[in-house]
This record gives sequence, C-alpha cells and structure tokens, in this order.
Amino acid sequence: MNMLQQSRNQVLAQIQSACTQAGREPDSVQLLAVSKTQPSAILAQMYEAGQQAFGENYLQEALEKITALKALDIEWHFIGHVQRNKTRPLAEHFAWVHGVDRLIIAERLSNQRRDSQAALNICLQVNIDGQDSKDGCQPEELSELVKQISLLPNIRLRGLMVIPAPENTRAFADAKALFDVVKAQHAHPEDWDTLSMGMSADMTEAIAAGSTMVRVGTALFGARPKKAE
Ligand SMILES: *Cc1c(COP(=O)(O)O)cnc(C)c1O
Repeated sequence: MNMLQQSRNQVLAQIQSACTQAGREPDSVQLLAVSKTQPSAILAQMYEAGQQAFGENYLQEALEKITALKALDIEWHFIGHVQRNKTRPLAEHFAWVHGVDRLIIAERLSNQRRDSQAALNICLQVNIDGQDSKDGCQPEELSELVKQISLLPNIRLRGLMVIPAPENTRAFADAKALFDVVKAQHAHPEDWDTLSMGMSADMTEAIAAGSTMVRVGTALFGARPKKAE
C-alpha cells in the first residue's frame, strides 16, 4: 500500500470512529480531499486510492489540474473565495461551489451553467463568528438568501459551509443549529442535506456537531507545498 492510500485509510477510519462516537451512520459524512498546491500527479494517485471528490481553492491552479486530469472521473469542488468576475469558469468546470455568500454570485453561476450540464451544487458560506473581516453572509441574511437562490434554475442549493476561527469552540454547534432552522423552514427539506465543516485538525469535533462533509488536506497529503505566486 502506498503512503496516500495509507493516509486516506487513516482519515476514513477517523471519520468512522467519530461517527460511531456520535451515534451517526458511518456513511453520513463525506470526505472531500483538499488538494490545493498539490501537483496533478499526486491527485491522480489519490484518485487511484479510491478518492473521487477533490476540493481546490485557487481558480487558475484548479483549471490547470482539471485539464490535466480530464481522463479521470473526478468530482471537482471549489472551496475558495468566489469573485464576482470569475464565476463563469466555476459554472462551467466544477460540480460544487462551497463559498457562495451573495445572491448575485448564485445568479451568475445559474446563468452561466450550460444547459447540457447537471445543476451546479452550491453551499452558502456563513460568517459564523460575526467577524467583519471574514467572507460569508450573516446568519440573519440566510433565510432570505435560501428563498431566492432556491428559485434559480441551474443551481442545487445543498446547505451551508463554514470556516470558523479556531478559537471559536461554539462555531460548529452554531452552524448546525442554523442548518436545522433552515431545514425546518425549507420547502424541500430533502434537498438541504449538506453541512460542509471540519478540516484536518478539527474533523472529529465537526462530525460530533453534525458535519456531513469534511474538507481535509494536510491529514491526507501531508504538509502543503507553498503556493507559487
Ligand atoms: C485548505 C482548506 C482546507 C483544508 O485544510 P487542512 O487543515 O489542510 O485539512 C479546508 N477548507 C478550506 C476552505 C481550506 O481552504
């Protein structure tokens, strides 16, 4: 077994045991492999190890990998900050976009998604810590955004994504509570099924709080190579 297979198995085992401890089904949490700054050859190896969903943060780098790896059946997730003038390549080349925080972004993604493609899956990023400097909509804006985005034709709004400050120990529970409030008001609650939270250092806590998708980089690939600027 190679190193990437081993580290993937370890992460999957950690997810399973976190689920068991929390009394949740082991398949209720998906693993998203965060591959930013990793070269395509490493992604190809991780794919060979059984990993299909990959998350990228930097658009240009991601597009190069998508081209290089187009022979593989990879599900590409964009987890970086979404800029308004860069929505077209996201709409055309990704299966999921996690960092949507404004209606205009969702509208553009819906307009730019090709009719021949399946609807684009998105998560709304919420600024769960209430910090001025952070991306994400405010919790108070959420219910109106959900209502409006749900009307867009080429979008499937799946849930929430959060990137809490490490010192905020309440953040995962707060995010889960928000997630449940929206689900309770949702016209089609079965469509609202994704809570994207937890990374290498805190996936166990995120799963205990109700995460359905952990975004894991370092624990899978080791320390990241620096991003070439
Ligand atoms: C880099 C990144 C991750 C993965 O972080 P690790 O600590 O390497 O697991 C998860 N989510 C987002 C949004 C990231 O930018």
